[in-house]
Amino acid sequence: MSRNRSKFEDQTLRRVPTEFVRWLVTALIITAPIFSLAQTQTMGHQTNVPEPRSEGWSRVREFVRAGYPIMNLHVHLKGGLTVEQAVAESERTGVRYGIAINVGLGFPTTNDHAVLEWLQMVRPYPVYCAIQAEGREWVRLIRPETAARFDYIFTDAMTWTDRRGRCMRLWIPAEVHVEDPEEFMDTLVERTVEIIEKEPIDILANPSYLPAALMDHYDQLWTPSRIQRVVDAMARHGVAMEINARTRLPRWPMLRAAKAAGLKFSFGTNNPGAEIGDLNYALEAIQELGLRPEDLFTPRPWGQRACDRKPWPTQASPSNNGNAELSPAPRL
Ligand SMILES: [Zn+2]
Repeated sequence: MSRNRSKFEDQTLRRVPTEFVRWLVTALIITAPIFSLAQTQTMGHQTNVPEPRSEGWSRVREFVRAGYPIMNLHVHLKGGLTVEQAVAESERTGVRYGIAINVGLGFPTTNDHAVLEWLQMVRPYPVYCAIQAEGREWVRLIRPETAARFDYIFTDAMTWTDRRGRCMRLWIPAEVHVEDPEEFMDTLVERTVEIIEKEPIDILANPSYLPAALMDHYDQLWTPSRIQRVVDAMARHGVAMEINARTRLPRWPMLRAAKAAGLKFSFGTNNPGAEIGDLNYALEAIQELGLRPEDLFTPRPWGQRACDRKPWPTQASPSNNGNAELSPAPRL
């Protein structure tokens, strides 16, 4: 009898913790959404925003206090990043953002309707809205009236057709052909200048970018005369130079030439995922080049943007081969 009782008590003792654990798990499952909601509200939609890695945000605040318009004008809603999260990070870091939609063949957005739908989503927020023009065909995909609803337009010289008729996207190694690096560079400079001259862009992004195969020779290939040709074209057409803080491009010789030519500089990180990234290289450039607040680009008032000043390109440029076969490819 006493043995039975003892067995009964043993089972009870074992059951109590098991049932307690079951109860605890059930309680947690039921209340989890409530805690999660409370946390979201407390954090003001900042959940899932990666913490800024950089110690440089206090420096950003110092520059802002000194009158520098510190902006990251090359931000994408990638990797699940929402506008709300971008706005929250902008408030936390003191950096104003320009958020860009990629428009071009091989990209999800290729027409007026899709572009305007995106604009409608982003416009209500305290960010600039921009178009990152892709490839050379973008001017045929959307109407000038559509482009004119954005605060600024930028592009880069990373998609063009070489002298042998091959369309290349420089960030995709399989598409890059370099038989002769000197010829490649001359073509790159020629195409870059054509883009600056013909396309209604406010900023040249990713300046001096080279395909991976040539990156080791960057300093030799970007000769002073090649740099000067690009910089002079930008000066003639009032195009600002992006300082890309993620790739740390362009390097100092091109930045110094740009400063000497009186170009304005914009900062960008071109985030490939939800982490927007820091502006440390751009802040270094302010000090290294002795930039003043007025040397930094700010989106121009409507009426003074490139799309207001320049005619909309109607003819295909030599770098525009109308290649409609560009396959979708993740943008660098
Ligand atoms: Zn981009």
